[in-house]
Amino acid sequence: MLNYGLTDSKVLHIGFDDTDSYSGKCTTNMAFKITSKLMSQTDSVFIDYPLLVRLNPNIPWKTRGNGGICLRLRTNQPDKIIEYLIKFIRTDSDIANGANPGLAVFEGDTIPLSLRQFSTRAMYDVLKIEEAENLASELSMQIFKYGEGLGIIGAIASIGSLLEGDHTYEAIAYRKKEFQGSPRIIDKSKVSKINIDTHPFTFNNIDRFHDRILITPHGPDPVFCGIRGEDPFTVIRALHYVLPVEKLEGFMIFRTNQGTNMHLQNQLSLRKTKSHMAGYVRGKVSKKPTIIRGGHVIFEVSDFSNNKYPVAVYEPTGLGNIASKLIEGDDIDIGIGVSKNSSHSSSILNVEYLSVLKIVDKTVNINPPCSNCGKRMKSEGKNKGFQCKICRDKKDSKIIVTNHRDIQLGMYLPYLKAYRHLTKPLHRYGMEKTYPYIPNIIKPLRGEWFKIF
Ligand code: ATP
Repeated sequence: MLNYGLTDSKVLHIGFDDTDSYSGKCTTNMAFKITSKLMSQTDSVFIDYPLLVRLNPNIPWKTRGNGGICLRLRTNQPDKIIEYLIKFIRTDSDIANGANPGLAVFEGDTIPLSLRQFSTRAMYDVLKIEEAENLASELSMQIFKYGEGLGIIGAIASIGSLLEGDHTYEAIAYRKKEFQGSPRIIDKSKVSKINIDTHPFTFNNIDRFHDRILITPHGPDPVFCGIRGEDPFTVIRALHYVLPVEKLEGFMIFRTNQGTNMHLQNQLSLRKTKSHMAGYVRGKVSKKPTIIRGGHVIFEVSDFSNNKYPVAVYEPTGLGNIASKLIEGDDIDIGIGVSKNSSHSSSILNVEYLSVLKIVDKTVNINPPCSNCGKRMKSEGKNKGFQCKICRDKKDSKIIVTNHRDIQLGMYLPYLKAYRHLTKPLHRYGMEKTYPYIPNIIKPLRGEWFKIF
C-alpha cells in the first residue's frame, strides 16, 4: 500500500455542519480554514477532495443550501486533529446567532453500510437527532454537539456520503475579513466568456434569460464566488480567469453532489408521503390544472397505489405554462418537495421538474356537420336530434372529435433562477460519472485544489 510515510496511519472521516447563521459565516469557509490548518500543522494526507454534500433541501431549519462537509484524510496524529477540531468548531461557529454545530469523526478504512444508508435517507427524508446519536454509538463514532447540536445529523450524513456515483466540483474563492459585507465587484464580461468557453464543463455561471450572474452570492458571508463544473481542472481554470482585483484569502475545490438531482432519486409512494420529503412521483393527472392568483398552477396527481395528492407549480419556476396544458389521464413524472400548504394547512407536492411521459387524446362532443353544405347543424331540442337550417339534412347525435394538444412530451426544468443547488441542469443528463472509493489506496489529490493567497 502507498502510505506516503504514514506507517500505521489512520483514516479519519471528519464531518461537520450547522456552523453558520443568517447573520454570517459559512460552513464551506470553515472547511477551508480547517483544511489550511491541517495541511500546514499536521501530517494529514487528504484521500479525497473536501466534500460539500447538499442534503434534503426541504428541511425547514436549514440556513441556506443545507450543505454539510466531510474531510477524509490519513494521519498519524488523530488525537491532535480531533482536539483542534473540537476547539475550533466551538469558537468559530456562529452559535450566538442560532447555529447548532455538530462534529462527527469516524475512524476506519471503510464506511459501514448503516452509515451509508443514513446518508441516503438524509437526502430525501427528515431525520431525528436521536437516530444520529444511536448510529454514532453503534459505530463508535465520536460526536460533539454545540447549541442544540442539530448539526450532527448533517455531519454524520456527510461522512456516509461517499459520492461514488454522479458528482460535480465547485471551486470557491473566499474574501478577506475586511471586505466581507461590501459589494462584490466582478467583471461580467469575463463571467460570460468562461460560461461560453468552458461549456458544458461548467454550469450555472450566468442566467442569460434574466441577465444575472450566478457565481457570486449576495449576503455578508465570506464567499466571493464559486464556479461549478465537471472536473477540478476546469473549475480552477475558470476561477483564475474571473478572479477580481479585490485581494482574496484563498480558494478550495470541493467535490459535491450539486447539479446531480441526488435528492430526487427516491420514488415516493403518495400513501407514505410526509412533509419535507423529497423524491419523484410517477402517476397520472387526476384533476385538471387551475391557475390561481399569482400565476401558480394547482392540479392533482394519483400514483400506482391510486392515492391522490395536490400538486403546486409555483410561478417563479416558469413551469406553469406547460403544467396548465396537462389534462386528466396524462402520465407524468415529477420531481418534488413536500411542503405545507399554508392556506389549507395540509401538504402539497411542490414541483422541481416536470416530465410529460404520455398524453391522452383530448376529445369533445360537437354538433354534427351537414353532409350537404358542411355547416354545423343546430339542435332540435333535447333528444330530438340535429338539423341543417339551410339543407334540412338531419342527424341523430353529436360527433366526437379529437382536438390537437399543444404540448410536447419530454422533460421540463425550472428557470435557472429557481434552481436549487441540487437541480441537475438539462445538459448534464448523459454526463453522469463515478468516483469509486478505494480505501486502501492513498491517491493524493492532483493539481491545485487548495491555495492561500
Ligand atoms: P449553509 O448552506 O449556509 O452552510 P445550511 O443551509 O447548510 O447552511 P445549516 O445551518 O447547516 O443550514 O442547517 C441545516 C440543519 O439541518 C443542520 O443542523 C443539519 O444537521 C440538519 N439536517 C440536514 N439534513 C437533515 C435531514 N435530512 N433531516 C433532519 N435534519 C437535517
